[in-house]
Parts: sequence; structure tokens; C-alpha cells
Amino acid sequence: MTYTSTRHASPPVPLATALVDGLAPDGGLYLPTSIPPLLDGWRAAPTYADLAAAMLAPWLAGEVEDWEMAVREALDFPMPVVRLVGGAFDGMFVLELFHGPTLSFKDVGARTLARLVARVDAARVDGGAGPLTVLVATSGDTGSAVADGFAGVPGVRVVLLFPEGRVSEVQERQLIAERPGVTAVRVAGTFDDCQRLVKTAFADPRLDGVRLTSANSINIGRLLPQATYYAHAARIVERESGEAPVFVVPSGNLGNLTAGLLARAAGMPVAGFVAAHNANRAFADHLAGAVMEARPTLATPSNAMDVGAPSNFERVAALLGEDERRRLIAGTWVSDDETLAAMRAVYQATGYLACPHTAVGLEAARRRREAGETAPIVVLSTAHPAKFPDAVESATGLRPPEPDALARLRDHPASFVPIAPTLDALVPVVFAAQG
Ligand SMILES: *Cc1c(COP(=O)(O)O)cnc(C)c1O
Repeated sequence: MTYTSTRHASPPVPLATALVDGLAPDGGLYLPTSIPPLLDGWRAAPTYADLAAAMLAPWLAGEVEDWEMAVREALDFPMPVVRLVGGAFDGMFVLELFHGPTLSFKDVGARTLARLVARVDAARVDGGAGPLTVLVATSGDTGSAVADGFAGVPGVRVVLLFPEGRVSEVQERQLIAERPGVTAVRVAGTFDDCQRLVKTAFADPRLDGVRLTSANSINIGRLLPQATYYAHAARIVERESGEAPVFVVPSGNLGNLTAGLLARAAGMPVAGFVAAHNANRAFADHLAGAVMEARPTLATPSNAMDVGAPSNFERVAALLGEDERRRLIAGTWVSDDETLAAMRAVYQATGYLACPHTAVGLEAARRRREAGETAPIVVLSTAHPAKFPDAVESATGLRPPEPDALARLRDHPASFVPIAPTLDALVPVVFAAQG
């Protein structure tokens, strides 16, 4: 199986190249050149890991040595489907994707990507090439998932940049926890400064001797594993209700939605998708008829969805023409007030505590139901409510109990390197990380 750029102006490559390079030389994003059908037996796979392995075999087998072990090691945490009971949310399914080590769905992609990259890059490291350095800018969940996923992988270093004073207390605790091979860098600037530093570092001749790679959701190695939990939920819901579901996806950069489209293209039965956005609504407006355009990013309570120019739109457009896109995917956007109101309403009606991102999805699902949807609805729950204790408490009056994964970090050694938002400050940190 080869991987083709969405812009079709550079040649198809093997998976190993797509994993290590991230972006195609023509500036496009990689997609599998063909999408093999789900094996007949997918519904009967005994466990989620078995289902994931069966689904990923055509994409990974022959491309990455020992791929199945990588997948089974990465996807070793529970993914329960919870059925809500009560009020306007009665009967809705919530697919909880946040039981991994850093408590967001980003663990699925980051843990798998780390293990695949380690396997495809090992020969180069053994052959004397220096370590591969993952450079990642983060405003929230990606950084800790990538740091945790890659920590301790031989031949890999992680340098993660986060903006001073702009991540939550819980997120900062997760970002600066010491991990083998990981350097946390606190930038005196904004998230945009962090992203600019990463971009310019790739082009800086001083770093020519360092093998740099990125791990954001432009990397196809994050999206392929995410396709598997859609099929996991579809078969559970089909078993319970006899019908294919509508998936509601709290969306920002559209990586998660793209993974759902890949699962559908592989033959997973689905009644439709809802892209649920916060005030960063360019894609929702596009689905309602507007031309897709980049917009300035707005800050909201669902900060991991604060994306003005979703990079995976390019993949959505490559997978579905404009008409098909609008037929299959409905767009909705939810204001900050409506998000907090939804957190409160869900809690009062059902007792369920949702993070602000999941709440955007639940509100979108409630509207869909109100508009007459009869198919079962699955809302993807993207983060643990305890990652956002202040927002949850102000909406519901209840502070979510701290899970062990977060409590343990309170006594865990922590450190970071503070820098000015300049490449001159970053370059020596990247060199120091090589040691
Ligand atoms: C990253 C993230 C999202 C948005 O996912 P995309 O793949 O960027 O659309 C939603 N919720 C949470 C909690 C996230 O961390």
C-alpha cells in the first residue's frame, strides 16, 4: 500500500516515508492510495484490539515490521460506549475515548504513531544516524499525548513547546512532567509563536544536522488508528439497536472527522456525520453553503477545538466531493454560553459529566434529535472532564474527581526550559535535547 498526496503533485510513497516526513513534498497531506474494504469478519473480532488489528492490517502489513504488536501495545486502554438515560439526551451513546494515559483521544493517534515511527526509523538509528527529534507546538492535549507516546522510545527525542500562561493548570502539569527523552519548553509568547518557531526551525540551516519530524494531525500515522474506534462503536450500537449510527464529532482541525470518513470508506455502515464546532465555525459554515476559508482563531472553553484554518479540510475534500460532503456531513456550531449550558443540562438530565469539547458534541446531538433524527446517535467524547475542572465546576457545580493519572503527576518530578519566542533561543535547546 502506498500513500498519495492530496495535491497529487508528488509521487506516492511507502508508509515509512509518510510517517517520518509528515507532509508531502508538494505541501499536501498523505492519504492511503486505496481504501481496502473491512474484512468480512470485523463484527466478530473478539476484542477492540482484535478489531483494530484486522482493520489496520491492509494499511500497515508489509509497511511496518511488527506492526500488529505496535497497534496492540498502543491501544491497550478501554473505550467504553456509555448510554445516557434521561431528558433530551435519553438513549444517546457516548464513545469515551479519554481513558488513555493523558486523558484525551489524542492518546490513540500519538501512542500508535510513536510505536510505528520507532519501528520504521530503527534501522537508520542503528546505521549511525542521530536520533529523530519530534518538534511539537501545543496549546493543550496534543503535547502531553505526544510526549507520553514517544517517551522512552529508543532513538527518538521530543521537544515540546507550550505558551507561557496560556495552558490550564492541569494541562501544564501534564506537559512539564519529566519523561525520558522529552524536553518541555515554555515559550514567553502565544501558541502562534510556538507554531511559528516549529515551522521556521524546520527550515533553519543551523539545525541541518538534526533529524526533525512533526507529530501533529497532518501525520497519517495518527489518523489510521483513529478510524478503528468508529467501527468499534458502530458494531456495539448496531448490536443494541439494529441500526447504523450517526456520529457526532467535536471538531477543530478535522483529524478525527477524517478518521471517521476513512472508516466509512472502508465499508463501516454509518447514517451520517455531524461536525460539531465551537465559535471557530468555518467548516460548519462551509457545509451550510459557504466557501471554505481560513479565519482568525477565537478562544473558547473548548480550547482544543480553537482552530481557524483546519488543516485536515484538505483530506476531507480529497475524500468527498462538495455535494457528497454536504449530503453526508452536517455542520453545527455551538457558542460558549451554549456549551456551558449543555454541560449543565446533560448533568442535570442524566448525571453525566462532560468536558467542554464533548459538551459541544452533546448539544449538536440534541439539536439533531430535535430536528427529527431517528437513527441512533453516537457522540465522541474527546477528553476527560477532569482535564477541565474549572469549566466543569462552573457549569455543573460539581468538581470532577481527579483520576489517578492526574493525581500521580502532583508528586512527579517536573521541569521545563523557559525561552524567549525566538529561534536563537530554541536552537541550543534542540541541540541539548540530542544528548
Ligand atoms: C484535538 C481535540 C479535538 C479536535 O479534534 P480534531 O481532530 O482537531 O478535529 C476535540 N476535543 C479534544 C479534547 C481535543 O483534544
